Amino acid sequence: MQINVSQLLKESIGSTRDYEVSEAVDIIDSNSLVQGEVRLTHTDRGILAKGTLCTEVEATCSRCLNLFGCPLTLTIEEEYFPVTDVVSGNSLPLPDEPGCFTIDEHHVLDLAEAIRQYALLAIPMKALCRQDCAGLCPTCGHNLNEGPCHCLPPEAESRWSGLSKLASVGDLLEKEKKGTD
Ligand SMILES: [Zn+2]
Ligand SMILES: [Zn+2]
Repeated sequence: MQINVSQLLKESIGSTRDYEVSEAVDIIDSNSLVQGEVRLTHTDRGILAKGTLCTEVEATCSRCLNLFGCPLTLTIEEEYFPVTDVVSGNSLPLPDEPGCFTIDEHHVLDLAEAIRQYALLAIPMKALCRQDCAGLCPTCGHNLNEGPCHCLPPEAESRWSGLSKLASVGDLLEKEKKGTD
């Protein structure tokens, strides 16, 4: 994910370049295909990289514990600071910001590290293989996405009575609303 920005750095501030991204990036121990678009803008301090990228990482479902491909959308916005002046070749002072991204002495901007950091932040704490993942049976551990097991859920009875109570409360509220209208 390396882009040579020497030309862009010589252009006036505000100049832009758009790039189609379709590259493998090492995110968590394995390469993930990252796709999308990035716009590079020449700023008074360096280059601003801005764009929306999509990728997929392997994650563990928090309900059924299966590994699955978790899609991520990354909205990247990072400024990159040149270590070398593109015209004079003199080294430039970097801003006093911890972990700031730099453009190396060959005027190459590398998006990979920013993508990796954004992806790690985007992975949900409680990832789900699908919204309605049925999870594991608490009694026998069977993956209920693959069909029911033979255990009888002990709380089935109370759950249903709870639901019917909820339904009647809903009816009451509905009636009340109608009454006040
Ligand atoms: Zn699951
Ligand atoms: Zn079971």
